[in-house]
Amino acid sequence: MSDSFKALVLEQDDAGKTLAEVRDLTVSDLPEGDVTVRVSHSSINYKDGLAVTGKGKIVRKFPMVPGIDFAGTVVESDSPDYQPGDAVVLTGWGVGERYWGGLAGMARVKSEWLVPLPEGLDVVGAMAIGTAGFTAMLCVMALEEAGVVPDDGPVLVTGASGGVGSMAVALLAKAGFEVAAVTGRPENEAWLRELGATQIVPREELTEPARPLESEKWGGAVDTVGGQILANVLASVRYGKAVAACGLAGGIDLPATVFPFILRGIRLQGVDSVMCPKPMREKAWARLARDLSADQLSEVAERISLEQVPQVAEDILKGQVRGRVIVDL
Ligand code: NDP
Repeated sequence: MSDSFKALVLEQDDAGKTLAEVRDLTVSDLPEGDVTVRVSHSSINYKDGLAVTGKGKIVRKFPMVPGIDFAGTVVESDSPDYQPGDAVVLTGWGVGERYWGGLAGMARVKSEWLVPLPEGLDVVGAMAIGTAGFTAMLCVMALEEAGVVPDDGPVLVTGASGGVGSMAVALLAKAGFEVAAVTGRPENEAWLRELGATQIVPREELTEPARPLESEKWGGAVDTVGGQILANVLASVRYGKAVAACGLAGGIDLPATVFPFILRGIRLQGVDSVMCPKPMREKAWARLARDLSADQLSEVAERISLEQVPQVAEDILKGQVRGRVIVDL
């Protein structure tokens, strides 16, 4: 095993500022774990943006290798579940927050955090999906579990040009839903329609406080932004239907009333990808591999080097990244 690899390392200075630097590390620098993986690709999610820039309290201890997801090949394993040569993907579990993460050529982790790469998906495709796509799949599954079906009418996706949003648009369209995409970037309209959106809703239509109950428009919704937009979405979902909430790109508050819940029986389904139990992970990954074509994945993702990560981390927090960003290691 070649001993040296590149890693993005975060340190904190005396003033509490986060500093990000690409360094050469060796395998002996890696933390404990029963499986060592040669990471070929990682990706940039909103949470990575918060971690790398230090603009959110994501990193629990320094020095830290960020990167909340990665894909690669097992090189060493003390676990009976994995052999050298196995292709694996990892998202969540506090990796890149409390434990060293994927923005490095090698990672050592607990075997129970890994998912074998499902049939039909390669490592690049797995990182085009990453935490964002996995979360989008969990949102679609949550809506289905709440009984939302295509005949209920269009499903609204907020933050549609982002990683989770764009994957949700593609996955909902594939599942037969009509998709309405909320975006603050009209220049992305054609791209969102290519991904499967049939309606574009300008973000400004949802940013002002609405009435507690508006007319019933949406068969369901995937919300990645929270705040006033989520409150307004709740007010306009059809009777008995559901909203899957997973994000806070627009804020952590929820200035809503209980009316949608008690007068329309609306269900608000929280979605968490980090601690999601393994059986649900495997189910979601198998469906992602089945539902998304290689063409769709390359349409949604751009590729960058490790050295470009600090700049893209700034960009994603400014809402300037479209779709997914794969990091080649
Ligand atoms: P991105 O930055 O890729 O996407 C967020 C999108 O939200 C932007 O592209 C933009 O879309 C929209 N947006 C940004 N700022 C605002 C704003 N102020 N008001 C309204 N809309 C805004 O992030 P990700 O897709 O990686 O993540 C989305 C959210 O989901 C984040 O909050 C993230 O933390 C959360 N998340 C949660 C997970 C979980 O397990 N619960 C897992 C993964 C992500 P547009 O330009 O089209 O309007």
